[in-house]
Amino acid sequence: MNNVVIKKEESFSIHILLLIFAVSAAIVLVLWQFENAKLPDNVGRELRGEEFNEVAERNSPLIEYAYLSPNADFPREGEIKKITVHHMAGEMTLEECGKMFGNHDRSASSNYAIDSEGRIAIYVEEHNRAWTSSNRENDSQAVTIEVSNDELEGDWHISDKALASLIELCTDICRRNDIQMLNFTGDINGNLTIHSMFSDKTDCPGPYLKSKLPYIVDEVNKRLI
Ligand SMILES: [Zn+2]
Repeated sequence: MNNVVIKKEESFSIHILLLIFAVSAAIVLVLWQFENAKLPDNVGRELRGEEFNEVAERNSPLIEYAYLSPNADFPREGEIKKITVHHMAGEMTLEECGKMFGNHDRSASSNYAIDSEGRIAIYVEEHNRAWTSSNRENDSQAVTIEVSNDELEGDWHISDKALASLIELCTDICRRNDIQMLNFTGDINGNLTIHSMFSDKTDCPGPYLKSKLPYIVDEVNKRLI
């Protein structure tokens, strides 16, 4: 008799556990589908043909490659008022960078990137917020750009071609977003910001690119006049 009661209790507990497991799994599945349903259908893959042209028309015509990342806020909350410059802390092709930002688990992205050949890619459309600078407020207002290094460590050098493309891209972003002048104040009050202003854990964009910021600002402003 006692054995029967114990078995019944055990069986009841197992059923409760199974029910809890099933309900939890269903909740996770619904949340996952809800999360993915919010993502535009052109993210997580390389864009070609008409899809590429549409993205180039809505953003910079200077892009040569598009791989839209799921790691973004769709759309951004703020108005575009700033540009934030980063370096990759490595040398990467646009395709490699696209794959990295295409990985949802990495929770990182940038609006644009430039490789050592000076080619430009888009990963997050400008009307969306990229997850780049460890600062939600900045990234809500900024178009963020990752630049590949062509020398690792030391001054974290970038190529002359990458620097020239960075100047052209910044000029184009300013023109299309009605930013009259670019200014680098060395702190978050300027409209050209850098990653290390928002995090003690990084020296991004490295000594070489940091030393070029006044030159970049001058060159961009010459083109904006
Ligand atoms: Zn950075």
